[in-house]
Amino acid sequence: MSDSLFARPLAELSAATRGGDLRSDDLLEASGAALAAADQGAEPVHAFLAFEPDRGRGTVPGVAEQTGALAGIPIAVKDNISTSDFPTTCGSRILEGYRPPFDATVVKRLRQAGAVIVGKTNLDEFGMGSSTEHSAYGLTRNPLDRSRVPGGSSGGSAAAVAAGIVPAALGSETGGSVRQPAAFCGIVGVKPTYGRVSRYGLVAFASSLDHVAVFGRRVADAALLLDTIAGHDPLDSTSAVRPSLDLADLDGGVEGMVIGVPEEYFPHTLDTRIAKLCRAALRRLEALGAEVREVSLPNTAHAIPTYYIIAPAEASSNLARYDGVRYGRRTRDAGSLQELYERTRALFGEEVKRRIMLGTYVLSAGYYDAYYAQAQRVRGLIAQDFRYVFDSGVDAIFTPTTPTPAFRIGEHTADPYEMYLSDVFTVTANLAGIPAMSLPIGAVDGLPVGGQLLARHWEEAKMLRVARALETAIRMTNGER
Ligand code: GLN
Repeated sequence: MSDSLFARPLAELSAATRGGDLRSDDLLEASGAALAAADQGAEPVHAFLAFEPDRGRGTVPGVAEQTGALAGIPIAVKDNISTSDFPTTCGSRILEGYRPPFDATVVKRLRQAGAVIVGKTNLDEFGMGSSTEHSAYGLTRNPLDRSRVPGGSSGGSAAAVAAGIVPAALGSETGGSVRQPAAFCGIVGVKPTYGRVSRYGLVAFASSLDHVAVFGRRVADAALLLDTIAGHDPLDSTSAVRPSLDLADLDGGVEGMVIGVPEEYFPHTLDTRIAKLCRAALRRLEALGAEVREVSLPNTAHAIPTYYIIAPAEASSNLARYDGVRYGRRTRDAGSLQELYERTRALFGEEVKRRIMLGTYVLSAGYYDAYYAQAQRVRGLIAQDFRYVFDSGVDAIFTPTTPTPAFRIGEHTADPYEMYLSDVFTVTANLAGIPAMSLPIGAVDGLPVGGQLLARHWEEAKMLRVARALETAIRMTNGER
């Protein structure tokens, strides 16, 4: 029941609550029922770290909840986004019980639009991971196959949408943490241009790469959510003053558009079934009047090493604030300041410690130029590759989102490098700051596969339009609405 309710387009749901055909209470009840169903049995999905629909109504429910663009709609928020009425743990012991004294700007905007924040979703600790297995509070399972990961780090939000607990959710991205789980869970995930959405209240991992990003069941749902949270925020100095998204042409089609296909994203090691689904998607776009053109992004091969130098470097600096003095848990019986730091920071998980050590190393005096400065230069080249392609008349780039479908729980935990490789197609957009998204393009062995679209800075509307055309064509073939 809840599933069929949330399978309806988001705009339709909120129109129904505004018009009085649906009550927000019914939606919240459906949310609760879907959560109970997902978490029962020996292999619970465990998408949420906190779930309390009543609390999420906030202090002033009322007008917005009846009239806003997301009137009465249950929305889930990743637990690294600050909420004044729920704890914000970042999936870490170090922030256990921490309750921010304020709402992140994106949360404030959701509430102003009438949305009800029903709870906070599980994640890899501080967003570091690709499977949600690195949460200090236990893993999240893929609702479509409980033996597999939902992806990460926003795996809880993706699973919450895929399990029909909420129609849409907020996640965050530093290197693909929304697109990759969207692909693994068969839903839509959109990362905006850097600066489009305020990061105020998003707990920092790597500030120059971090974005708030969105999940929905379909392109229009994700677009509506993105539109709600986008816009300049004086509280975030990297937030840009830009006109709004302008989604009026979402259904404008792809006639005459040029879709670039970079050979570097189709290596011979790519799962052939994924390559085949990508080719089928491209043929659909051609049939709709788009021109498909081969392009090259030659610096793609350096993306993973570049990302895994810059992200840990920024993380080592950002995470220095967790010292037992200012936030979260504090060891009571430390004999000295040094001991207080050491005991507190011992609460970090393995992966977080690995990143802090890696980051501290690449920033150290003797190695700064060899690693960090060099990575920054390569980052510039990766961004330049995209600029050349878009300047040559390409409207959007199409690639697979991930090299494989959802992997098994435990499959990559022994070897961090193997885990890092699942980000190979997604980190480039964060390094370049361009908008990127994933949408379902089919399945292999019953597991969903995502196709990725990338566009020029600020051209989310164009990217979403291509996605919408492709989605409509695929849904029509499958006999879906
Ligand atoms: N999986 C990548 C990492 O571990 C990306 C994480 C993210 O986007 N937050 O860093």
